[in-house]
Amino acid sequence: MDLRAFAELAQRERLCLGCTGRLAARLGYGLGNHERGQALLATRAMLAEAEDEAGEAPYFHGGTPAPTSNECGLCEGLCGEVAQLARLVLDAVEGVELETFQVGTLVDKEILVREKELQMASGGHGEPLKSQLNREIGSRVAGVSGLAPERDSPDAVIVVDTRYDTVDLQLRSLFIEGRYTKADRTIPQTRWPCRECRGRGCERCDGSGQMYPESVQSLVAGPLLEAAGASEDKFHGMGREDIDATMLGEGRPFVLELRQPKVRSLDLAALEKVINAAAAGRITANGFVWVERPRVAELKETVCDKTYRVDISCDPPVEIERLKKGAQRLAGKVVEQRTPTRVSHRRADLVRPRRVESMKLLSADGASAELEIRAQHGTYIRELVSGDGGRTSPSLAKLVGAECRVEVLDVLHLHLEET
Ligand SMILES: [Zn+2]
Ligand SMILES: [Zn+2]
Repeated sequence: MDLRAFAELAQRERLCLGCTGRLAARLGYGLGNHERGQALLATRAMLAEAEDEAGEAPYFHGGTPAPTSNECGLCEGLCGEVAQLARLVLDAVEGVELETFQVGTLVDKEILVREKELQMASGGHGEPLKSQLNREIGSRVAGVSGLAPERDSPDAVIVVDTRYDTVDLQLRSLFIEGRYTKADRTIPQTRWPCRECRGRGCERCDGSGQMYPESVQSLVAGPLLEAAGASEDKFHGMGREDIDATMLGEGRPFVLELRQPKVRSLDLAALEKVINAAAAGRITANGFVWVERPRVAELKETVCDKTYRVDISCDPPVEIERLKKGAQRLAGKVVEQRTPTRVSHRRADLVRPRRVESMKLLSADGASAELEIRAQHGTYIRELVSGDGGRTSPSLAKLVGAECRVEVLDVLHLHLEET
């Protein structure tokens, strides 16, 4: 398409200079759209004058101005609103700690349809209106705030809805990896919404919305949420233990995600101390480091052997030698575990083979005993001891010929060093 045709299209559609320049974006390398539009119309007018076509192109002759953006037949004023839209963005990020950002825009659908038609009519080499707005708003925001535009993984994505002059600020989550230990046998790993009210708060939960007032998650996340001014957190543990089991040794790895953080520069070492002081030994958290989102999936996929310590009861009492033999016979064995009844409502009913690496009798007095068990990931320890009515086979109970039950369970160690 030649200059004359562009100019005629601009005149016919009553385009502002920004829209004119944008449709001709492949001409005039290095010019902004507004300048390009101006240059295009001026050039066209000068050509007309030189060729004495004045009568043919009155619109450009004699300096008749192009329509302002408010009168523009395409953008309905958007080309002239960049400063105002940038102000909306600047207001939205006020008081938020950021280094990098990216601007996006939502534009009325009718405008986009009309733009497409004009792009087709002019050869399809123009720049889309949205990309002009993103670029111009972005560079104005960068100029005023000193923030750096970034495409790949910005701290904030700010979407300006030009239809309503509203802004949606999406802050990139923070991810902190650490390990926790748990000595308290009354708190679950994660927040657990109340079954009655599903988190709204009722009599049963004392208005807390939770089955348990506290969790490892709430104790760890509380100080971090507050320091980051985040809206919510997600706790991604590398597996979990039962509420009444402790988690000892070096602890269990987890990643905590903080959503919509207004502060990104947290003093992790200081926050660890705050968390541990407040938890007063019920849990500990340590080894905090910054990680990125993909670490969550990696953690979820990591499996390893675990070593447990259990107190069991035996009914009727079992001789020590018999218990010792039973434990020895399970060591190095693969047992078949059908999904236990206690979890069958949330897990598929399958038979899983699991290897018991070792089982040592630490002490025993007939009616009770203490064992240390190392087993493959995913082994149901309670069922390995009790047999779960024959669903786990072989089991300690079957081998010693008595009813055996786990009374107390501690996770001593996750064998991560071997994975
Ligand atoms: Zn326009
Ligand atoms: Zn409730």
